[in-house]
Amino acid sequence: MADTQRTFSIIKPDAVAKGATGEILKRIEESGLRIIALKRVQLSAQQAEGFYAVHKARPFYSELVQFMTSGPVVMAVLEGENAIARWRELMGPTNSNEAPAGTIRGDLGTDIEQNAVHGSDAPETARVEIAYFFNATEIQAAVEALP
Ligand code: GDP
Repeated sequence: MADTQRTFSIIKPDAVAKGATGEILKRIEESGLRIIALKRVQLSAQQAEGFYAVHKARPFYSELVQFMTSGPVVMAVLEGENAIARWRELMGPTNSNEAPAGTIRGDLGTDIEQNAVHGSDAPETARVEIAYFFNATEIQAAVEALP
């Protein structure tokens, strides 16, 4: 299939805590993206720091690590045509207060930090982020994507 991509998603602690996990997974599936790996974990500070290492110099880095370790998250690998852009579109812009209604961040996020979900921003980032949290054996390619 042309341009089948994988992307990495996190349902962040704010959304898990408010019981929005099911709603978000439902939106993913209804959009046609396939969930090919899924787990619920409590991130350690070390894992969150490593995952957001690119933001290390930003003023909000320690607050972000604090937030991401404040409770369990649900992480998933999504697959589909143009999955990276499609998932970012479903998420909406970073700041929940500026995200339009109908997007996950607009409907379920709180502010610029507590914004319900994460999504990879490019193919190389997706590859690195998926490998950071999932072993190859934990990822089951969707039946539709098999030859
Ligand atoms: P994303 O790709 O839309 O998630 O946005 P970024 O990569 O720029 O930021 C990563 C995450 O850091 C965001 O999803 C927010 O949770 C958080 N974040 C971004 N900007 C800010 C900020 O100005 N203040 C705080 N406290 N958190 C922020």
